[in-house]
Amino acid sequence: MRVPFLSLRDVHARYADELKAAASRVIDSGWYVLGEEVPAFEREFAAYCGVRHAVGVGNGLDALSLILRGYKELGFLHDGDEVLVPANTFIASFLAITTNGLVPVPVEPDPASFNIDAACAKAAIGSRTRAVMAVHLYGQLADMTALTALARRHGLLLIEDAAQAHGAMCDRQKAGAFGDAAAFSFFPAKNLGALGDGGAVVTNDTALAKCVAALRNYGSQTKYHHLFQGLNSRLDEIQAAMLRVKLKYLDEDTARRRHVACRYREGIHHPHIQLPSAISEERHVWHLFVVRCAYRDALQRHLQANGIQAQVHYPVPPHRQPAYPSLHGLSLPLTEALHREVLSLPISPVMSEDEVDAVIDACQTFEPPT
Ligand SMILES: *Cc1c(COP(=O)(O)O)cnc(C)c1O
Repeated sequence: MRVPFLSLRDVHARYADELKAAASRVIDSGWYVLGEEVPAFEREFAAYCGVRHAVGVGNGLDALSLILRGYKELGFLHDGDEVLVPANTFIASFLAITTNGLVPVPVEPDPASFNIDAACAKAAIGSRTRAVMAVHLYGQLADMTALTALARRHGLLLIEDAAQAHGAMCDRQKAGAFGDAAAFSFFPAKNLGALGDGGAVVTNDTALAKCVAALRNYGSQTKYHHLFQGLNSRLDEIQAAMLRVKLKYLDEDTARRRHVACRYREGIHHPHIQLPSAISEERHVWHLFVVRCAYRDALQRHLQANGIQAQVHYPVPPHRQPAYPSLHGLSLPLTEALHREVLSLPISPVMSEDEVDAVIDACQTFEPPT
């Protein structure tokens, strides 16, 4: 049996007719940028997240970046201010910070959840720290209780990178509703994915929402009047129409991801494979199922030999990337160990029970190199 890491074709085949009808609706409307679909999706997604505003933008990186840019325009952030960020995140979290002339301060994760360690974050606060970026890595909510308390006590902005965590919940609050503002990505492989690039900023902060809505559209609220030196980063009408279809199925898809995760956690018992922990069922939407193994590369080769495609998220941490020579001197031992040892098993809403069995069996027959 061959088990792909993720088959987007199978994901979309389930409601291809609905997607095609939605695409036809946009094609026939004759209006392709900022028409009726984007504001309709913005209302629906804001309601889903339980926040007042959603602003559709071009992608997840722009969503994150426009939050920081918006807080600069509003006077809450200034060039050279420091932003605490998990050291083991995807590079986009860092890019959003540095692109805005802000300084990323990488913070080690908690070894059980892989999310930012609130105690380490506290220790990293200095006189220039103005914000903390919580990334709900792999689909599990970061410790928002501790981070909210920390942000309040130290007067920091709390920004969520929720690109991997659509629908993750804690105490009836969803990802995106905890911080001052949150960024979502709708890259096709995300839990809520468009059929191209897309992203959104969600917030209860009306001033920020207005600012981001202008920034994404040349800095303009009224045509040909420019409040800011903005950019062009709008969610496409056609992607908004796709997302309106897919949003209806998101909770069902999350339930299927949880089922696969549950089967892995019941079925994989191996002395060399450390399974991910979930603090509670509702906190984790299993964007990725990430195991830890001291013989990661051998495990990946073994799975590959058994037809199973596993991937590494991520092989090199941001502070060791050629893009960030100024961070190369940092030593972040846990982050560096994780990047050597993590492996993501296939997980998706369209995996069959047989495919799940094949992954479990292949893990169980892994023999570490001697
Ligand atoms: C995917 C992702 C982003 C960026 O989203 P794009 O839409 O690909 O630009 C940012 N942060 C995290 C944690 C992500 O996984």
